[in-house]
Amino acid sequence: MSRLCPSMSPVCVPRTLRLLRQLFPGLPAAMQRLYSLDVSAPLLRTQGYVDGRWVSAASVFPVLDPATGQEIARVSDCGPAEAKQAVDAAFKAFQSWKQRSAKERSVLLRRWFDLMTNHKEELARLITFECGKPLQESLSEVAYSASFLEWFSEEARRVYGDIVPSPNKDRKILLLKQPVGVSSIITPWNFPSAMITRKVGAALAAGCTVVVKPAEDTPLSALALAELAEQAGIPAGVFNVVPCSREKTPSVGEVLCTDPLVAIVSFTGSTATGKVLLRMAADTVKKASMELGGHAPFIVFDSADIDVAVRGAMASKFRNSGQTCVCSNRFLVQSGIHDRFVEQLGRAMDAELRLGHGSEPGTTQGPLINSRAAEKVVQQVSDAVSRGAKVLKGGKRLDGSFMEPTLLADVTTDMLCTKEETFGPLLPVIRFNTEEEALAIANASNVGLAGYCYSQDVSQIWRVMEALETGIVGINEGLLSTPEASFGGVKESGLGREGSKYGIDDYLDVKYVCFGGLKP
Ligand code: NAP
Repeated sequence: MSRLCPSMSPVCVPRTLRLLRQLFPGLPAAMQRLYSLDVSAPLLRTQGYVDGRWVSAASVFPVLDPATGQEIARVSDCGPAEAKQAVDAAFKAFQSWKQRSAKERSVLLRRWFDLMTNHKEELARLITFECGKPLQESLSEVAYSASFLEWFSEEARRVYGDIVPSPNKDRKILLLKQPVGVSSIITPWNFPSAMITRKVGAALAAGCTVVVKPAEDTPLSALALAELAEQAGIPAGVFNVVPCSREKTPSVGEVLCTDPLVAIVSFTGSTATGKVLLRMAADTVKKASMELGGHAPFIVFDSADIDVAVRGAMASKFRNSGQTCVCSNRFLVQSGIHDRFVEQLGRAMDAELRLGHGSEPGTTQGPLINSRAAEKVVQQVSDAVSRGAKVLKGGKRLDGSFMEPTLLADVTTDMLCTKEETFGPLLPVIRFNTEEEALAIANASNVGLAGYCYSQDVSQIWRVMEALETGIVGINEGLLSTPEASFGGVKESGLGREGSKYGIDDYLDVKYVCFGGLKP
């Protein structure tokens, strides 16, 4: 087992610790020590992975532990040249990968799944150290991430076409499904592993090959996946990873979105970036799969079971410190249950939430990914307070990018936090009186990813479920993601669906074959 920063000798540890204390003077006591990753060397990869080879770039960029600011690795900073090599390699590999039988592809994906499962602890530590989430959540992410390789290893063998009744006796109509080709996969930092496998599992199962560009903050999980792909026997060029710094991202993104050899751009991230990538992909009329931002409403009606609603609110708001696209962003609570709900929620926050380094046992709230993210939450809190909201819990930014879990009451729809995605541990509560009012507020958004409804009135549940303008709805349930179900949004939350039997569709073309001249 090696310490994460290979260049850090035992002698420089005290110096690093001193530096850490200088950088973060008010760091909670638990943070004022070095945290070491302890991941075995083969899984701690720091070079790009192109055409089955580990490649160095001309320069490197640092990966930081967001909880301490400590550098945990230096990773090759790939540029457009490496991105182009990866696209070419993927195109070459596509010619043979698509010829493999579905069963062969299925077996390799299953082997990759098994390896992820065998290495789950190390993979989880990588996630915790590069993205900050508590170890327990990282372990859940690894299981969730691996489950897409398992699911799509099974779906690979079920890519059926159709034989359609023909209007002419001398013809047969066949609809064949074929892989689209090279897939550019661009992913965010908040699920550094699962957002890759949810796409790559589907792409490889269909017979496509991929080039992955992970987020600057979290390249290590992507590179560990490449190591395991190689161990699983995925052929060279089928799975490529080009990590890069934020400076290089636009030029790498340009190659991945404009190269004529690329057939589809599959992106998960913010709506703003999604629009940039869509514009670039339009010139060569590529397919696009877009999993973009959300602004989930969480509606609690008077008839709700309050214990269930509070449990759901805690789970859907504070997972990954509020940094998931399906995190509830606006809590709409009916007048009759409002005060009891808010009081019970406050008690649950006191009892259940504990800030700290993600690797510390008992931590439930890690840091936000960086200080910009923390600043955004602070700005939303002060805007809300200036417009009349009451801070019932938290409200303050702590050292580094830690943010107190925050509960706001008397929130109104003119406040920033009800208009834009927060991506942090801020829980704003809006009081409403009627179902119509709640639905009008919930649907007054340009995005529509997830929505939640708590009620015990079956007729109301059906009305609300159908009326919510979102791609995902949780009824009396706050945690919804699973590979069996479709994931994706409406409006500006994106295009296409991931997971489920539909998740493979974006990576397939349907070819109509007219088989004519048949004699009766
Ligand atoms: P982001 O800023 O849009 O970044 C996402 C990815 O896009 C990163 O890899 C980023 O690279 C890259 N990128 C940015 N500009 C690019 C360009 N010009 N060309 C190519 N790549 C480019 O989003 P984020 O802040 O990381 O993630 C948070 C957002 O993702 C939230 O809005 C959240 O709701 C959304 N999200 C959606 C889903 C979903 O399934 N719908 C899931 C998770 C997250 P750098 O890291 O180098 O900037």
